[in-house]
Amino acid sequence: MKTVLVTGGAGFIGSHLCKFLLEKNEKVICVDNLFTGRKENIQELMNIPNFRFIEHDIIDPLYLDDIKIDQIYNLACPASPVHYQFNPIRTVKANTLGVINILGLAKRHRARILQASTSEVYGDPIEHPQKESYRGSVNCIGKRSCYDEGKRVAETLFFDYHREHNVDIRIARIFNTFGPNMTKNDGRVISNFIVQALNNEDITVYGTGKQTRSFCYVDDTMRGLYNLMNTENFTGPVNIGNPRESCVLEIAELIVKLSNSNSKIKFDPLPPDDPKQRNPDISLAREKLNWEPKIKLEDGLKDTIEYFRKII
Ligand code: NAD
Ligand code: UDP
Repeated sequence: MKTVLVTGGAGFIGSHLCKFLLEKNEKVICVDNLFTGRKENIQELMNIPNFRFIEHDIIDPLYLDDIKIDQIYNLACPASPVHYQFNPIRTVKANTLGVINILGLAKRHRARILQASTSEVYGDPIEHPQKESYRGSVNCIGKRSCYDEGKRVAETLFFDYHREHNVDIRIARIFNTFGPNMTKNDGRVISNFIVQALNNEDITVYGTGKQTRSFCYVDDTMRGLYNLMNTENFTGPVNIGNPRESCVLEIAELIVKLSNSNSKIKFDPLPPDDPKQRNPDISLAREKLNWEPKIKLEDGLKDTIEYFRKII
């Protein structure tokens, strides 16, 4: 039995990961400052003896000398543009000071550590689909840069700790993920559209809606992270995402149809630096992790619609 620390474990992806690890019989320590995460996401785990929750901000050092930690998943960082831009300086701190603290913890415990990086490191990509070798096209002074550049420097820190201190690292570049436990007000496209559709309100498509994303259901993303963590002699970075690409307008129409809604589409201004296209090349994940997404977009959306129907 391993002891696994999940930072950001009360968030959307983190809460699924904690549950999955407990089902694999691991001991799980969830560290979260509850900024975008919620106790409700981990409520059902609270009474499990192998689960421990620590309310803590990774911007402050964390030692945990009373236990031996074997693996760390570092997910602590707000992920939706609305939330990471709410306090951009804190977002940069989480990705620099926070990442240094957690890498220091990994070094001290000789633990393997996985970073939840992002497709945002590719910025508004010129190469399409994106391979891991693509170096990206990021605006370093824009509103998204606290997150994009934060995640880029986090990758740099991971590789420097690896080279300088022999820390055993893994880097996953996660593409847009959706599913139950997203918050209804986090501003991300799938949660916004589903909540609007279920309330029969206008669907807010930003810009023309021709911009594309590739959406991966959370169970698939989580399996990808787990496989990466448990693969030997491979640091990544590796793309974890679904290669099915859809434009935002198509997603809006699909959600209206699947939720039997009367909502109409309304076009709002496009936020600055919004990437025009995004699609992962997952050849590396297929080869090294024996991983690819299994859940169809429509099936994942139906599950997510049911989740939101229950909570709103
Ligand atoms: P989320 O906002 O639901 O989860 C992030 C969690 O981290 C929350 O529980 C939050 O309270 C916690 N947190 C934030 N700052 C913290 C800090 N300083 N100290 C301790 N805890 C802190 O987002 P998510 O979608 O679950 O994303 C999880 C990770 O995956 C993030 O690092 C994100 O950048 C990355 N990621 C997510 C996606 C996606 O589509 N969901 C895509 C790419 C990368
Ligand atoms: N988007 C939209 N309407 C919304 C929320 C988002 O049209 O109500 C668009 C947004 O402009 C972007 C895409 O959907 O082009 C994905 O946005 P999200 O915030 O989910 O993720 P990210 O931009 O970080 O990929």
